Amino acid sequence: MRFLPVFLDLAAGPVVLVGAGELARAKLRVLTAAGARIRWYATDGHHDLCGLGAVDADRVERAAGDPLAADLSGVIAILCAGAGDTGIAMAARAKSVGLPVNVMDDLDHSSFIFPAIVDRGDVVVAIGTGGASPVVARRVRERIEAVLPARIGDLATFVGRFRKSFATRIPEMSLRRRFWERVIDGPIGALVLAGREPEAEAALNEIDDASAFAGARKDRADGSVTLVGAGPGDPDLLTIKALRALQDADVVFHDELVSPEILDRIRRDAARVSVGRRAGQPGIGQQAINSRMIEAARAGQRVVRLKGGDAFVFGRGGEEIDALRAAGVRYSVVPGITAGLGAAAQFEVPLTYRRKARRITFLTAHRAKDAESVDWSSLTDTGMTVVVYMGMTAAPSVRAGLLAAGRSPQTPVGVFAKVTRVDAQAAVGTLDQLPDLVARIDGGPAILVIGDVVAHSAPWRQENLNHVMSQLLEPAE
Ligand code: SAH
Repeated sequence: MRFLPVFLDLAAGPVVLVGAGELARAKLRVLTAAGARIRWYATDGHHDLCGLGAVDADRVERAAGDPLAADLSGVIAILCAGAGDTGIAMAARAKSVGLPVNVMDDLDHSSFIFPAIVDRGDVVVAIGTGGASPVVARRVRERIEAVLPARIGDLATFVGRFRKSFATRIPEMSLRRRFWERVIDGPIGALVLAGREPEAEAALNEIDDASAFAGARKDRADGSVTLVGAGPGDPDLLTIKALRALQDADVVFHDELVSPEILDRIRRDAARVSVGRRAGQPGIGQQAINSRMIEAARAGQRVVRLKGGDAFVFGRGGEEIDALRAAGVRYSVVPGITAGLGAAAQFEVPLTYRRKARRITFLTAHRAKDAESVDWSSLTDTGMTVVVYMGMTAAPSVRAGLLAAGRSPQTPVGVFAKVTRVDAQAAVGTLDQLPDLVARIDGGPAILVIGDVVAHSAPWRQENLNHVMSQLLEPAE
């Protein structure tokens, strides 16, 4: 690390800006938005404030004269943007009087550089790459933007308002820190983040014995279970809420299907328990999963139940919340992208399509026995896209059922495996060929998509192209 991030008090004095054109105006926008007062030496003589609002323009002093000879007393920093040689000379002058200086895109002449910024009021995050790559800094910023709750700044402001009074009420520092941790992580913090500050303030005022509150062990009222849909595999498909739940968890009970990249997003100190069934091998059983979750929540832990795809699509989410409700445990549900939607996006299968497909059915056919119990006659509408979960083994029965019910053997179908993961695979063809298509897949999990819309998919278009190419390349008779 060459550049240490520090935060400059913009109320302490004006910032001098030397330069012209769009580069200088870009800096003006950043600085005025942050509330700085700016003394601007326009090196081309034009103080063009276009693009700045009236309030911001008011903070800009249009300075005349030579910046190299200007009085710098009281100035807190110097910036040069689009200033050419004057900028370099100004940097030398700033250094000789010990003022921090930034020359845009010129590390050699700068003593400080601008970070990428996440701005949430009192919460500000600065991201630097030592000047190496502003684009990388921006990507990091996007990630941070995504995980920070929108009202995190309000939470900081809220705590700031009460810090002094609690400093007297809880003189011991470590106890005081625990107090604020409990406030911020508990229901009061949640109220502020939900925009319900008056209620948060009332709850804070209700705390009689602040030291006891800080020292108290977690009680059962704090425990909760969040059912989180992890999506089909790509960690970037986690929702922001899902990511937040993973970051807040004390313990995570996860399925076998959840990818390692997603498990990587769990808070480092959280306990992880794999409770899934693995192809053929029984897991710990639904009863045992329910009791362990209930037990952990009752002990005051924040429990996350992490499931592949969405918890309410063949994920037993319904059964689990039944058990939690019966046990009186608080719970919430965060949706995830179900495998069918992941496959649709990745392989460009429009599940509905004007006139061609107006209905979607998600069904499961785990074993041939399940497939036999499906009422296939309800699935013959050519305007219906059918998505079959857990249908690899039962593929011959799915085919037989649909054909017997009268769906055309020429109906386009796709087998989509490990969707949204790096090793995703697709095989497309007709309903008639379904078992062969399944055989082409190197392993699950996979879904079957049946319906005319599969003919719009990317793999289908590719197959057609291959077909045309091979005909073109065939030697003429
Ligand atoms: N709750 C999950 C489904 C769990 S049932 C969801 O919403 O996606 C397990 C079945 O889901 C698998 O047999 C397979 O059919 C499908 N599945 C899960 N992840 C998948 C993936 N990455 N690619 C293809 N199919 C997947």
